[in-house]
Amino acid sequence: MTTTTSSALPDVIYTARLIRTANPSRPTGTAIAIRDGKVLCVGTLDECKSWGITNVDDRFTDKILTAGFVEAHSHVMTGMFAHIPYVGWFDRLMPNGEMAKGLKSTDELTQRIREIAAVTEPGTSIVVAGFDPIYMNSERLSRVHLDAATTDHGVFVFHASGHLATVNTFILDKYSIGPGHPAPGIGCDDTGQPNGELREPPAMALAEDEYRSIRIIVTEPTAITHFASSMRNAGITSATDLGAMLHHSSREFENAEQATLSPDFPVRMVSASRVIGSVADMKESAQKVLDVQKKSNDKLHFPIVKMVLDGSIQGFTAVIEWPNYYKGDDHGLFLFAPEQVVDFLRPFHEAGIGIHCHCNGSATSGVFIDAIDTLLRETPWMDHRHTVTHAQLITQAQLKKARNLGMCANFFVNHVFYWGDQHRDITVGPDRAHGMNPCASADRIGLSYSFHTDSPVTPPGHLHTMWCAVNRLTASGRVLGENERISVDRAFHAVTIDAAYQLHMDHLIGSLEVGKYADMTVLDDDPYTVAPESIKDINVWGTILGGIPQPRPQ
Ligand SMILES: [Zn+2]
Repeated sequence: MTTTTSSALPDVIYTARLIRTANPSRPTGTAIAIRDGKVLCVGTLDECKSWGITNVDDRFTDKILTAGFVEAHSHVMTGMFAHIPYVGWFDRLMPNGEMAKGLKSTDELTQRIREIAAVTEPGTSIVVAGFDPIYMNSERLSRVHLDAATTDHGVFVFHASGHLATVNTFILDKYSIGPGHPAPGIGCDDTGQPNGELREPPAMALAEDEYRSIRIIVTEPTAITHFASSMRNAGITSATDLGAMLHHSSREFENAEQATLSPDFPVRMVSASRVIGSVADMKESAQKVLDVQKKSNDKLHFPIVKMVLDGSIQGFTAVIEWPNYYKGDDHGLFLFAPEQVVDFLRPFHEAGIGIHCHCNGSATSGVFIDAIDTLLRETPWMDHRHTVTHAQLITQAQLKKARNLGMCANFFVNHVFYWGDQHRDITVGPDRAHGMNPCASADRIGLSYSFHTDSPVTPPGHLHTMWCAVNRLTASGRVLGENERISVDRAFHAVTIDAAYQLHMDHLIGSLEVGKYADMTVLDDDPYTVAPESIKDINVWGTILGGIPQPRPQ
């Protein structure tokens, strides 16, 4: 491993109102001593000074320092809003610090695209992102709405879920996407004509230039830097790019290496290669991950891979069990044939690489957990920590089986706020919605779990995920699933040490323990003592990464 931090840094002691370590042996302190970017001592000022350090920095004396927040499921695509217009429902902070206003109707979307078209050369394409049709009380977005904005340009509306896009007739014609097209996931109207909705990557990729333009933007070094600053601004010290293609592209790897080797790069990045291709390619893919692991540096790590097994619940492409969706058409789509999942994953498991699998629907969680059961019978590995990520509709029986197998979950608990009302009223109905993202059930049986924002699907930030897990309030203010609420202490561990654990990185990050990186989140107030409803409103000052303060622009 290349060492890039700063043995040249002088020893320092930071004092604080309180330090929360996420280390159960020594959960709190009021001073932390740092040497070579690592934790030397956490405790009282006198204990820290006893190491012979006189350099005491008291700029954080009024602040709360916590073990740095770890985001185990986000995407470099977070940086895309620096380049692609945002058209989502909620107002949202952009990477440059400006607030983009949410769009509240299909008409507002059409109008926004019309404005962009007025300043865009005819014949070229307009790509916008963040749209969420489930909030619209109107007819579902189709090519007809987009044709009303422009017929002289291609229009590609990338949905908030990242799993769907809606395009106009210009794009359908450009790529000859007509009735009876053989690709799966092409939405059609009652007459069998494509309606412009492209579901899941194989269908979206038909709009080759437009879909690829997003991919290209998100692999530029500037996008990685925008991603890193967005994470730092939210108080995150380690962030995962889940589903990267670094092991397939030397250009992407070099971009990431160049960005992370810069001493100013404000976050540690975990790059999880995406499982993609055919079964026959997987041995080589696993070898590429092992090769790229040797090129890790202090701020770039490759401990896991990611498989995406189904779609999104609010996009109706997640695969859920009987009685299926409550309202709306079931477009559940397995992105790998269930019977082939074991064959796809075997080379990674055998090579000792952690596997995180995107499972939104209950049918999908079941397929993944069964696949891990089979792999463990073939090749025992006690410490695999394979993780069901999203795990939104995981059942009680699946939770127990996952626990027995030594697996982890990474819950998408932000859904309770952002889509909880829709899940209760539209997608899965009043019963199952209460049991979504079952954190307290996982605690009751001892299954290790974390939370994620899936940024850019929801904005980065763990104060918000903690707030969701503790309060379980929907956007309309209803409590969804009161029996799945957890304590602040459990939520804090989920976003620090337990997230590090499922990334196989808990020996390096996730808690303030002697010898680990001195990575901290700097807060104006203590999540343990503010009113539970206010946790999400605590101001984030910034972070400390390897002992170096990283303020966010305020
Ligand atoms: Zn994701």
